[in-house]
Amino acid sequence: MMPEVPSGPDHMTPDEFRAAGHATVDWIADFLAGVADRPIMPDVAPGDVRASLPPSPPSVGEPFDALLADVDSLIAPAVTQWQHPGFYGYFPANSSPPSVLGELVSAGLGVQGMLWSTSPACTELETHVLDWLAEACGLPDRFRSDGPGGGVIQDSASSASLCAVLAARDRSGGSEALPDLRVYTSGQAHLSIEKDVLVAGFGRHQLRVVPVDGDYAMDADALARMVEADLADGLVPCLVVATVGTTSSGAVDPVARIAEIASAVGAWVHVDSAWAGSATVCPEHSDLLDGLDRVDSYAFNPHKWLLTNFDCSAFYVADAAPLAASLSIVPDYLRNAASDSGEVVDYRDWQIPLGRRFRALKLWFVMRSYGTDGLRAHIRAHVAAAATLADRVRANPRLEMAAPLSLGLVCLRHVDGDEASERLLADVNSTGEAFLTHTKLDDRFVLRVAVGGTWTTATHVDRLADLFDDLA
Ligand SMILES: *Cc1c(COP(=O)(O)O)cnc(C)c1O
Repeated sequence: MMPEVPSGPDHMTPDEFRAAGHATVDWIADFLAGVADRPIMPDVAPGDVRASLPPSPPSVGEPFDALLADVDSLIAPAVTQWQHPGFYGYFPANSSPPSVLGELVSAGLGVQGMLWSTSPACTELETHVLDWLAEACGLPDRFRSDGPGGGVIQDSASSASLCAVLAARDRSGGSEALPDLRVYTSGQAHLSIEKDVLVAGFGRHQLRVVPVDGDYAMDADALARMVEADLADGLVPCLVVATVGTTSSGAVDPVARIAEIASAVGAWVHVDSAWAGSATVCPEHSDLLDGLDRVDSYAFNPHKWLLTNFDCSAFYVADAAPLAASLSIVPDYLRNAASDSGEVVDYRDWQIPLGRRFRALKLWFVMRSYGTDGLRAHIRAHVAAAATLADRVRANPRLEMAAPLSLGLVCLRHVDGDEASERLLADVNSTGEAFLTHTKLDDRFVLRVAVGGTWTTATHVDRLADLFDDLA
């Protein structure tokens, strides 16, 4: 007798997949239709979710219905409802129907886009959509793909800034020069900058923390003095990271001045606009782009406030050569005629990992579905609602603004001090109707309201203002 030939597993048939897929999309539609009625923070203790799951995987495949039923009963109630219209914590993590569908198509195509030749459309759609995005946001031409630079989608702003740190380090002499190199960023920069600098092999002492002014923006004069002092000590300023829209308060560093100071000494300038960058789709916020025509790299996250679900961070460089010089290693097994011809971009050379997802699809779906008019309407509704909320805060004698209003971010506190502010935060969150997080500014407790959820409207923000009036 012939030994039996292994036949592989039972896959869904195309018809079974169609039915399961329709059921899944139906489930997502129902979830989104009902998300506003769910508590924003799940009532879950550590270990609860795991305790609800079998300790071992099934040996025999289960019907898809069972899976979707468990998503419904075990998973959805145990996630934090970031898509709830009353979610104002951290910064928003937008998702939207077209984005979800773009993600689905990406999984369906199932390509790995590490090289142009491993999937031409994955690379070329990305190049094209990032040029669209640059145009929609009014970014300087130096970030368009028809020059030496261009855009690429990274998983996160943290990864984008790490790429900038590595390119800057190597452009200034790389590992041999490393002990003398210095990096500058403000005390209000995102924690990822410090992490990136450490990952890139710098010591903590090589990161200079530049003081901020009264509005929490980098003090450019202080930067100039620090750079000058380091030069006098024989050190090499290699990178300044400016923030446009800081995480704590939405402050905007003076990029034009910073670029002037940095370019005089040959230092790279990276601008981290992870959250605020989305607002530049509106021409009335083009002041956020001041000085960008003189910087080396720029990143912002459509996955925060531009209707595109995580992960989608747009990273632009004025010149891709230093990036590739730091990140390109070509083993024989990746060599191919297209790459050798020099006529194509291989985005693996613009990022840390080799493999890459087809993320451009979801951004393309979003930009085509909403149009730039729709994207602008999205930002404008939130900026207007935040302004109304700020007015309500200023009108309440028990509250005060803790930082200038910045786009959709309102920072406030109770006039009675930290304890009263902390109590107000807890009281608002315990209503289940709204969720806020906090920060510290000048060592004082501050409530942050980040208006920007896909489904958040002026009515929801008015309701939050009512809660403040009732609870403060
Ligand atoms: C959110 C944020 C980041 C981090 O973004 P990730 O994409 O999560 O890495 C970095 N910088 C600023 C200013 C941010 O607001």
